Amino acid sequence: MNISILGSTGSIGTQTLDIVRINHDMNVVALAANKSIDLLYKQILEFSPELVCVYDEEAAGKLEAMLADAHGREELHTLPELVTGMEGLIETASISDADIVVTAVVGMMGIEPTIAAIKAHKNVALANKETLVCAGHIIMPLAKNEGVKILPVDSEHSAIFQCLQGRADNRIRKILLTASGGPFLHKSLDELKSVKVEDALKHPNWNMGAKVTIDSSTMVNKGLEVCEASWLFDTKPSDIEVVIQPQSIVHSAVEFEDGAVIAELGVPDMHLPISYALTYPERRFVSNDYLDLFKIGNLEFIKPDLKKFKGLALAFGALKMGGSAPTVFNIADEEAVKLFLARKIGYTDIPDIIGKALDGHKVSPNPDVDEILGLKKEITEQIESWYK
Ligand code: MG
Repeated sequence: MNISILGSTGSIGTQTLDIVRINHDMNVVALAANKSIDLLYKQILEFSPELVCVYDEEAAGKLEAMLADAHGREELHTLPELVTGMEGLIETASISDADIVVTAVVGMMGIEPTIAAIKAHKNVALANKETLVCAGHIIMPLAKNEGVKILPVDSEHSAIFQCLQGRADNRIRKILLTASGGPFLHKSLDELKSVKVEDALKHPNWNMGAKVTIDSSTMVNKGLEVCEASWLFDTKPSDIEVVIQPQSIVHSAVEFEDGAVIAELGVPDMHLPISYALTYPERRFVSNDYLDLFKIGNLEFIKPDLKKFKGLALAFGALKMGGSAPTVFNIADEEAVKLFLARKIGYTDIPDIIGKALDGHKVSPNPDVDEILGLKKEITEQIESWYK
């Protein structure tokens, strides 16, 4: 199996390479990263891809020199082709030798490469949230037309996908999308106001990048996942229920007509959903860290407080509005998290900014990719103007 990985130096990317290391029939044909070239350099030496994209042009120049040196020292037999920017990312996503493309770049820059991969008839192991949140109405019909599989990598969506194997024509009554509740599950709304950047960057169960860690603490991440689940599994927002499962052992569940609830349980480790997306429908060895239910003892289930986790309520609202609204939700959150990490706003300003951006937006019912990407500049500038 030939794999192209977009976002190879991030959390999902590096864990994907762990999976490649333990599967001798997997081969990396292309890698793309933004600008973490030191790690990318090591990955190139280890996996010898034929194509490498460094999004940042300056970093690409540095990497080129490093690779030439390695080639001179005979540490690298064949120099990969080096590409940059969005054009390069699209090339990496549609490289003819790949069977599957792992889209693990963060942000709306993942939308166009994912479309390119589908059009090039690659199966997509989808780890980029924005793709479905912003462009689900474009991606899902396109994948169907091109006969391409969208295999979810996110733990919750992978869980739901696993629960749906053997579903036949049975209707999903309800998706139970689980959430850890993050580090502030037991804090009051008032206490949230004084949350510092350092507090929000600590996640109890999962190890992730900064943006998604903040998004988990506000439950905006869960809101984005509700939008994704709605597209992936063709489910109405009202049929998706968010359930806080603080131990992160139940990774999500599906309820059927007859009342059967099928769940996927496991240790909180992204290697499993990544491996399943790559080898579906086959299951393979991932690690010796198996779930010990006796050690876990108790599983709790808590209803999320939507007054406290306002971002989650806003996500349901945006999904119901449809069209461009989830894109605005996503952009406003990106901008708000950036401002919070730069210590320019307080923690509870994050959902307030999202709400304000949505209130001021006139929904476009069926936006194309250009319109979606155009909103990025418009909404970002709008929010920046509020904090000048
Ligand atoms: Mg998740």
